[in-house]
Amino acid sequence: MAEMFYDDDADLSIIQGRHVAVIGYGSQGHAHALSLRDSGVDVRVGLREGSPSAAKAEAEGLRVLPVAQAVEEADLIMILAPDQAQRKLYAEEIAPHLVAGDALFFAHGFNIRFGYIEAPEGVDVCMVAPKGPGHLVRREYVDGRGVPAIIAVEKDETGNAWPLALSYAKAIGSLRAGGIKTTFTEETETDLFGEQAVLCGGASALIMAGFETLTEAGYQPEVAYFECLHELKLIVDLMYEGGIAKQRWSISDTAEFGDYVSGPRVIDAHVKENMKAVLADIQSGAFAKRFIDDQDAGAPEFKRLRAEGEAHPIEATGRELRKLMSWVKSDDDYTEGTAAR
Ligand code: NDP
Ligand code: MG
Ligand code: MG
Repeated sequence: MAEMFYDDDADLSIIQGRHVAVIGYGSQGHAHALSLRDSGVDVRVGLREGSPSAAKAEAEGLRVLPVAQAVEEADLIMILAPDQAQRKLYAEEIAPHLVAGDALFFAHGFNIRFGYIEAPEGVDVCMVAPKGPGHLVRREYVDGRGVPAIIAVEKDETGNAWPLALSYAKAIGSLRAGGIKTTFTEETETDLFGEQAVLCGGASALIMAGFETLTEAGYQPEVAYFECLHELKLIVDLMYEGGIAKQRWSISDTAEFGDYVSGPRVIDAHVKENMKAVLADIQSGAFAKRFIDDQDAGAPEFKRLRAEGEAHPIEATGRELRKLMSWVKSDDDYTEGTAAR
């Protein structure tokens, strides 16, 4: 059973006695900076020259500084820039301004786990990773609740890293819901595996294979879209509320019987073998190297794969069908705020 921590286990005055720099003001950055401030913590936001995020942070009354200056002023630096930008940002703007006794914080262990960032002697390395998107993290905090977080200490140079990490988690509201103790290795490897094998990679490939199977058999793409993509949300919502059991309770007996007999035919032992190979590439660092090497080269593989994905026939079908559904948010809205584009 995981070790859980709540508000009573943390001392807010620890983080209130620090000077915090939140680097990046995107999904997580805005939530952390605003909630830290509202918890009585001295916080500034570090952004690169000419950052489009600066105006948003300033409109909230936050102090915005160049990254190097923010790190210089602060003794706790939370790095909330995109993972692929962190190594360069760290080497050029952060590392030169760290001193013994500082703490480096992350919301995902990627750069530490795979060795792209190595903190100097005397600097604590901690993680507070809320298990939800930044906008939810902020909304829950404002409403007096919180999004659970997983918390880890990679390097405890001062002897006080764990209470400091708990104090930070409390300040962003996460310990109202609960904090789970983990390690950088466990967080990074399970996060990458989940998104690759199940949530993003697995689900996208399953939907596309289903859509292709129906359309290649001569069924109309519009009907295939509803059956293989659109209705997935209803199913996932039921799982989210009550596990796989609630989903099976809610669907028809026909669907439930088909679930039992055909699910394991589609996702068979071979799929699990493939999942194990994906996990092995994550654990060995092969996936991280492929991603970072490609990013360093201007992301040719990433851009090609993205273009191929966007050209799949299911996307054109979906664009037309969603126009008929007034309650579905327009598909033009989704690119707003995605830094990778
Ligand atoms: P975003 O993509 O939302 O962050 C963008 C922010 O980083 C912007 O303020 C942007 O500023 C700044 N930025 C982008 N590129 C650079 C750069 N090269 N140098 C300096 N600043 C830059 O990030 P997320 O909030 O999604 O992710 C931040 C961290 O949180 C990551 O480690 C991620 O894995 C983790 N995380 C994210 C979750 C999420 O829900 N999104 C959930 C849990 C963890 P500009 O205006 O200059 O572009
Ligand atoms: Mg400093
Ligand atoms: Mg992830």
